Amino acid sequence: MARIIRDEDITIELIKNKTVAVIGYGSQGEAQAKNIRDSGIKTIIGLRREGSSWKKAAEEGFEVYEIGEAVRRGNIIMMLLPDPVQPKVYEEHVAENISKGSTLVFAHAFNIHYRQIVPAPWLDVVLVAPKAPGPALRDAYVHGTGVPGLIAVHQDYTGNASKIVRELAKAIGLSRIGLIESSFKEEVETDLFGEQAVLCGGVSSLIKSGFEVLVEAGYQPEVAYFEVLNELKLIVDLIWAKGLSGMWQAVSDTAKYGGLTRGPYLIDEEVKKKMKKLLEDIQSGVFAREWVLENNSNQVVLKTLMERERNHLIEVIGSKIRSLVGK
Ligand code: NAD
Ligand code: MG
Repeated sequence: MARIIRDEDITIELIKNKTVAVIGYGSQGEAQAKNIRDSGIKTIIGLRREGSSWKKAAEEGFEVYEIGEAVRRGNIIMMLLPDPVQPKVYEEHVAENISKGSTLVFAHAFNIHYRQIVPAPWLDVVLVAPKAPGPALRDAYVHGTGVPGLIAVHQDYTGNASKIVRELAKAIGLSRIGLIESSFKEEVETDLFGEQAVLCGGVSSLIKSGFEVLVEAGYQPEVAYFEVLNELKLIVDLIWAKGLSGMWQAVSDTAKYGGLTRGPYLIDEEVKKKMKKLLEDIQSGVFAREWVLENNSNQVVLKTLMERERNHLIEVIGSKIRSLVGK
């Protein structure tokens, strides 16, 4: 079992007099920069001058610099750009400007674990990975709470890396809920598996298949939509708040019996075998190679699949229904 580290286990000392340079002001960049600033630590932003976030960050009271300049001014450099653009930005603007003994921070382990970025040996390289999207992270912080997160150390040049990463995670608000000590390998492999097998890939495919089966059998698409998509939120909210048993408690005995007997028939050993194959491709780097090549070819497959997804009947029906209820 993992040890959960909480606020009371961490005293902010080492990062108090440092300057945190947050590179990127998107989902995570904005949220983390604001949280760190509100925790009393000097925070500056590094961006492209022509980029759209420059004005926003400046209006929200931050000192904003070109990426290279922000890296020169900071001692803690946080790489909060989209993962596919990080290697090029690192090579062009970070590598030559980062000073010896600085802390290089990632929010996702992909580029380090799969060696798309290989930092100099005279840097501390750490991971602070919030397990929530940026807006939720900021919202929780403002309301006095936080979201959980993983921390890890890849390279400890100064001998202080593991203390610094904890202090930083506290400043972001993650230890208000709980921090888990992990590794770059564990973070990236579980993150990719989760989003492929269960969260994004698994759930969306399950919804679409269920919808298609009902519609192909002649049921009205609106009824199918409510059944397999809309109600899913209620079930997931229950599971989230009270666990699987809490969910089973809340549904009818018919749903209990049907679900407990038919669920494992559907998601059977074959599906589990396929899940293991997904994990194997992640562990071996096969998926990472595919994704790097996809980015080098301008995301041609991704764009095509997204277009196909937007045109699926469930999306057409869904936007009609959601506009009726004002969403
Ligand atoms: P994002 O797409 O929201 O980041 C956008 C920012 O990057 C903007 O400021 C934009 O101007 C800048 N940017 C985009 N392309 C650029 C380029 N070519 N050169 C320079 N700047 C560029 O990114 P995000 O979702 O916040 O992800 C940042 C990191 O956080 C990633 O490593 C990601 O894996 C990690 N992460 C994200 C989430 C999440 O829910 N979004 C959760 C946990 C970890
Ligand atoms: Mg994820």
